[in-house]
Amino acid sequence: MSITTRFAPSPTGYLHVGGARTALFSWLYARKHGGQFILRIEDTDLERSTQESVNAILEGMAWLGLDYDAGPFYQTHHFDRYKEIIQQLLDQGDAYYCYCSKDELEQLRTEQMANKEKPRYNGKCRELVGRDESREAVIRFKNPVDGVVTIPDLVKGEIVVGNKELDDLIIARADGTPTYNLTVVVDDMDMKVTHVIRGDDHINNTPRQMNILKALDAELPQYAHLPMILGADGARLSKRHGAVSVMQFRDDGYLPDALLNYLVRLGWSHGDQEIFTLDEMVAYFELEDVNVSASTFNMEKLLWLNHQYIMNSDPAHVARHLSWHIGQLGLDPTQGPDLVDMVKAQRERSKTLVEMANSSIYFYKEFESYDEKAVKKNFTAGTDEILAQLRDRLTALVDWQAEPLHQVIVDLAADLDLNMGKVAQPLRVAICGSAVSPAIDVTLTLLGREKTLVRLERAIDFIKN
Ligand code: GLU
Repeated sequence: MSITTRFAPSPTGYLHVGGARTALFSWLYARKHGGQFILRIEDTDLERSTQESVNAILEGMAWLGLDYDAGPFYQTHHFDRYKEIIQQLLDQGDAYYCYCSKDELEQLRTEQMANKEKPRYNGKCRELVGRDESREAVIRFKNPVDGVVTIPDLVKGEIVVGNKELDDLIIARADGTPTYNLTVVVDDMDMKVTHVIRGDDHINNTPRQMNILKALDAELPQYAHLPMILGADGARLSKRHGAVSVMQFRDDGYLPDALLNYLVRLGWSHGDQEIFTLDEMVAYFELEDVNVSASTFNMEKLLWLNHQYIMNSDPAHVARHLSWHIGQLGLDPTQGPDLVDMVKAQRERSKTLVEMANSSIYFYKEFESYDEKAVKKNFTAGTDEILAQLRDRLTALVDWQAEPLHQVIVDLAADLDLNMGKVAQPLRVAICGSAVSPAIDVTLTLLGREKTLVRLERAIDFIKN
């Protein structure tokens, strides 16, 4: 059997990490089985859906590299098809017009609550036939009254729900627009979705959707409901806990691979392994290994993973993402050092790409002022003399490479009878503005001769005055 999964977000906000994890698991399952992964935008709630949010979802999927084989499909383009199916259900006697007013339903609800009963539609209009055009009506699905629905959930195991628990749900509103459960069913059927992988907040919808599918004589998909993601305080993960939007993680300097790796481990495991290449994720992923209970989002672990990815990924890959962050700082990434070399020099000390970009600003533009502490410690009487000699030797240096640069510093220190730090540290402050940078010879190669000499001159003047 060929496998088809789908990610079906409602475009009512940004793509959050919970949605991204659902998308990732659906993507992995399709990739693992050589199947199809579909993106479906569930935009039928016209009041809450926005183009901006559609864009945010597409942008998030693209940034994460979760490529879809079909779509994006928009449910708003399928209204005719939903109408057709609603009519079919009416014709078959599996749906009916319900004329109960809001007030009536509200009163019913109040009574049921007072009797400590579960609020549900009482089926008053269920046996009416035809359509009374003079009255406003919604359309309800005629849910079976007896028997049970068994969800063979691939994560949670078998879930059995009595049909008595399910009332006749509205499939079309008074204005004729279809409701969520109907549209999902029609699309899952038409798109031949074989595996519905989604958050367990949808678990109550599943038996209803299965009943509609049965009424349509459609094949039932398999279901896998993913447990919730919680914040550190045990509450459902939300904005209160910090970044939850996928694009916010990009803005905060995370690599998409690190976020994917973090998300795959959120509720899924493969032995003790923490770091997975995409190929490994595809190879090892099984829905059966998804945890039944909720998982907690741990920002520190994500940060640790991000650092691992920054340090161990191909530096050219990291450089491509870093380039964007350099641009975000208003700097031109082409007007500085070779980015791959810069990544190699900065990756040990950078947990995020934002950190890496921020600690690289001096390669692109003059810093405004020197770090005060660094000045106090490293620019003392006579430092200008040392820097002047350095300037002369560096001006004369033909081969601007790490090794000869290193030699210049070593030689000067020896000639002046100083330890190397007494030369290298003032030099570092002179060219970077602070006492923190990669190894001094590497910093010099990254900065280049021209900028180095200008900055040495500036430091000499500064110390003199
Ligand atoms: N559109 C629904 C949501 O964003 C998901 C529907 C589904 O996966 O069946 O929550």
